[in-house]
Amino acid sequence: SLTAGIVGLPNVGKSTLFNAITQAGALSANYPFATIDPNVGIVEVPDHRLQKLTEMVNPKKTIPTSFEFTDIAGIVEGASKGEGLGNQFLSHIRQVDAICHVVRCFEDENITHVSGRVDPISDIETINLELILADLETIMKRYDKVAKLAKQKVKDAVFEFEILEKLKEAFENEQPARALEFTKEQEKYVKQLHLLTIKPILYVANVGEDELLDVDHNENVQKVKDYAANEGAEVIVVCAKVESEIAELEGEEKEEFLQELGIEESGLDQLIKASYNMLGLATYFTAGEQEVRAWTFRKGMTAPQTAGIIHTDFERGFIRAETVSYNDLVEAGSMAKARDLGKVRLEGKEYIVQDGDVIHFRFNV
Ligand code: GDP
Repeated sequence: SLTAGIVGLPNVGKSTLFNAITQAGALSANYPFATIDPNVGIVEVPDHRLQKLTEMVNPKKTIPTSFEFTDIAGIVEGASKGEGLGNQFLSHIRQVDAICHVVRCFEDENITHVSGRVDPISDIETINLELILADLETIMKRYDKVAKLAKQKVKDAVFEFEILEKLKEAFENEQPARALEFTKEQEKYVKQLHLLTIKPILYVANVGEDELLDVDHNENVQKVKDYAANEGAEVIVVCAKVESEIAELEGEEKEEFLQELGIEESGLDQLIKASYNMLGLATYFTAGEQEVRAWTFRKGMTAPQTAGIIHTDFERGFIRAETVSYNDLVEAGSMAKARDLGKVRLEGKEYIVQDGDVIHFRFNV
């Protein structure tokens, strides 16, 4: 399954945030926790639609969907020089599908900053530079050979060289691969290079507890937002310390605490949603009297593929998917009414499932 990796320099609040993630996951009883790697935190995906469907269908139980964050260990600086723990840092990043980069925006004299002062842009650039240097090394392994063949006008090499040249220039200018534009065909080639800086990224600005309500005036947050805008990346503002308190609560207690704080949605919930999107994940629902349940699928999957997420037999024996979009269902008020209104479609093997589809699969066993 797809996972987002949490990275950051030491003392930025990474562990505090990761602990909040683990704690939030531990409250939900839907996962066999004993089997989980300590560096993996499973979270429920907050989704108000599930609540609404539950009210409509009144099932015996309701099961949200979940996904994983991975805590990326290892030492950042000098990582691309291949020194011990640094190497580990890079190999862990290689294994995740997207990056959540935590940066310190809170001031606290008691907590040492690795570079002596709070400077989020310098923090971001430190990590990004290690990743860029590692990618430069990756492409330079092929560069000379391909350059030679391209000179001899070998067709594939000419194609390949154009891409490598473009990447090399970007890396030498300290630009990540994700900032570049490629044609569909080039994209396919770039994908199999397994570059680190092509992975989607979002920045998590960790602010102090007293700053949470006035983040628009936080200069550090503003700097991170400007930097991210340049890359087309998203920024989520959290106070890791407060998140770890929120993560101890559930349901009404959580709602009340958020109200007291004067915030609508916890930073962690925002982070979960943004990461889910960044990974290209979406949710469909099944809604029966036994259970109403949310399921995670990758955008672009066909109906049989999404059926296979429930059970491989569902994919093999797929006949059709009786599908109604969440909005149509809610507007109709009930499944029966939606059917009367002709809102329930019979979708076949080619159908690309959409976020919010409520599906009943028909299949042969
Ligand atoms: P890591 O090294 O990035 O994992 O950072 P930690 O999560 O261990 O945090 C380093 C220190 O900063 C700890 O003493 C935390 O309690 C503190 N810290 C983390 N987040 C916040 C925050 O939002 N506000 C304040 N004041 N301190 C924080």
